[in-house]
This record gives sequence, C-alpha cells and structure tokens, in this order.
Amino acid sequence: MTASTLDDLHQHAAHNYHPLPVVVAQAEGAWVTDVDGRRYLDALAAYSALNFGHRHPALIAAVHEQLERVTLTSRAFHHDRFAPFCADLARLTGMDAVLPMNTGAEAVETAIKLARRWGYRVKGVPADQATIIVADSNFHGRTTTIVGFSTDPTARDDFGPFAPGFRTVPFGDAAALEAAIDETTVAVLIEPIQGEAGVIVPPEGYLGCVRRITRDHDVLLLADEIQSGLGRTGTTFACELEDVVPDVYILGKALGGGVIPVSAIAADHELMSVFTPGSHGSTFGGNPLACAVGSAVVALLETGEFQARSRELGAHLKVRLDDLVARDERVEQARVVGLWAGVQLVPGLPARGVCERLLDLGVLAKDTHETTVRLAPPLVITRDEVDLLVDRLEEALD
Ligand SMILES: *Cc1c(COP(=O)(O)O)cnc(C)c1O
Repeated sequence: MTASTLDDLHQHAAHNYHPLPVVVAQAEGAWVTDVDGRRYLDALAAYSALNFGHRHPALIAAVHEQLERVTLTSRAFHHDRFAPFCADLARLTGMDAVLPMNTGAEAVETAIKLARRWGYRVKGVPADQATIIVADSNFHGRTTTIVGFSTDPTARDDFGPFAPGFRTVPFGDAAALEAAIDETTVAVLIEPIQGEAGVIVPPEGYLGCVRRITRDHDVLLLADEIQSGLGRTGTTFACELEDVVPDVYILGKALGGGVIPVSAIAADHELMSVFTPGSHGSTFGGNPLACAVGSAVVALLETGEFQARSRELGAHLKVRLDDLVARDERVEQARVVGLWAGVQLVPGLPARGVCERLLDLGVLAKDTHETTVRLAPPLVITRDEVDLLVDRLEEALD
C-alpha cells in the first residue's frame, strides 16, 4: 500500500504518530503478515512489549481460558486471579508487594506518588517540597507530569504548565546526581538503560554508584524497567547487570505479553504501605484478564529460557553489528545489550529512510532521534533470523 493511500485511509485519525507504511493483518512469533500477504521480520517487537513474540501459545491459552471465566470485576471486589498474580510478580522481582496498573505511564505515576508520600510520611520532607531527580533524555511516558520532566521538546512543548518537583541531571554522571540531592530529595527515577533515547548504556559502574548514593542519602531508587526489563537485556531486569536492587521496580510493556496493557510497580511492604485504601487506584488495574496474562508472563520468565536466548543471540547480534561498524563508515556505533541495539548512523544519514528501506526488504524496525535505528526483535527470534536482520540492515544502508 502506498503512503498516500494510507493517508486517505487514516483521515479520521489523530496524527500523533508517523507510522511506517505497512498495514499488519496477522502475526506469529517474530513474523508479521500485511494485508497484501507480505511477510516481515519484526525487529521492533512493539518497543519490547512483544518480548515473547506475537501470540505466544502459552499467553494466548491463558487469555482464552480467562475469557471463559471472568474478565473484569473492578477492585471493588476480589477476584481469584489477583492474589496469585501479585504473588507471582513479587517472587519474580524479589519484592514483597505489587500494585498493578495498566500502562507504563500509570506505573511511573504510581512510583512518583509512592516516593512523595514516603518522603512526607517517613523521611519527614516538609509538605509539598519533595523533589525527584531524573536524567536528561529520559522517557517515562506521556502524562502531563511525566512530559514536564522530559528534555525532548517534541514530547513537551506547549503542554505546560507542568508539575514542579523534578530536577534533571545528565544521564551517566553519578557525581552530578549526588550533587543534585538535598534534604527535599525523595527519589531518583531512572531507566537503567535509556530505551527511547536510542539504547543508551550508562558507563560501567554507574548504576551501582547510583544505588550507593541513594542509600547513603536516604533517597529511593525507582528503576523504570518498562522497556529494559523482563528479558530484553539477557537478564530478567537490567538492574541485575550491575547487581543492583532498586527500591521500586516499574514494569509494563512485556508484562502484558503483547496481548493487553499490564503494568505494575513492585516494592517491599514497608514502602508500599504508604498506599492506603482510596489513595490510589485504577478501574482496570489488576483486572482478571490482565492478571491471567501477567502470571503467564512470569511463568515464561521463570524458565530462564528467554533471558538465555537474549544473552546468547544478543552476543551474536553484537558480533555482527560490531563487524558492520568496522566495515561500514556509515555506521558510527552499535550499542548492544542482550537482543537490544541502538545502531547509530553518521550524521546526515536519516534513520527513518533506512527503516523505510528495511521495510521494503521485509524487516520492521523503527528510527529514534534522527540517526538511530533501534533493534529490539522478539526474544523468540532465531540465530538465522538475527543474521537475516543484519544482512538486510546492511543492504538498507545503500
Ligand atoms: C514505553 C515506556 C514508558 C511508557 O509506557 P506506556 O505503556 O506507553 O505508557 C515508560 N517508561 C519507559 C522506559 C518506556 O519505554
């Protein structure tokens, strides 16, 4: 389908996205099929929401089974999938308590509320003075509070006035982060690896340092693992790469198995108990269908299979991309962690054009920030498909 036909078809849709010109009709595993029957290798996996591939049989079975029983009760009543899901996710995260929401942005908002309330009620910060430290080039979602502390003008411009209480420091600079802490600081909110910024990996030791600093200053560490977590980096959580345990895990995307939106925060009871009845909630958060999928996702992760695939195939992806960087001067750098890569092109070579050519060559990938091609294939991808992906990428550069 041509781009202009697509524009006609979408005349009643808001233009808040600029999708590549493909109309997907069906998908399975790492592959999608468009309305004309053409097949594409999915190298984006819905920004890591599809870590287990499209329509993983275990997840689809869990949904079907739950659809036959009950889909929504609201939190006004108990349902029989809620406690098991919370227990499952608590076990996976090593935390005591879970608070489920729906989208990633809502989970981030939940963590912000937790940190502020903890600041006032436990740490003793004067009323309405709490500050949270964030990193520049962050991406934590699209609510007005969250875009207020974004440093991306496209995400932020003309959506103010914004909520106060956030301080921005350079990502990867632990000294700057420590210098920004004062007696009002309740938390540091950080992506262990910045996804939307282009798979930006901080200097080695940074996360460990942030953990030490936050502990020393009685400040909470809120790890936004919505994109980096649940297998993407070769570990269950990116924090594990530096043996860091945050105070709060913020999860989303793959937690819903690519089927429905499921997000959550996980923390110990001591922290989570700042939430009391009525202080936070969501009509759909923790619904039976979400809990059924979430529990099935945890079961997949507990096999360790997906983390291992991400580690092993990610090592292969890294070898292939490093080789491409060495041979092709149009590729400046490849940042690779697990099956997650930011392929940095030279200035003046737009990543959008490369992704359009990749589409013609049968690969779905997405540009980010002008010159980065982000690769995040489903973790069910095979070694041959990783090779195919890099071969096509090389072709697309021409
Ligand atoms: C995608 C993402 C979010 C927002 O999730 P939504 O479900 O789109 O609201 C927040 N943080 C990070 C790191 C993300 O990648």
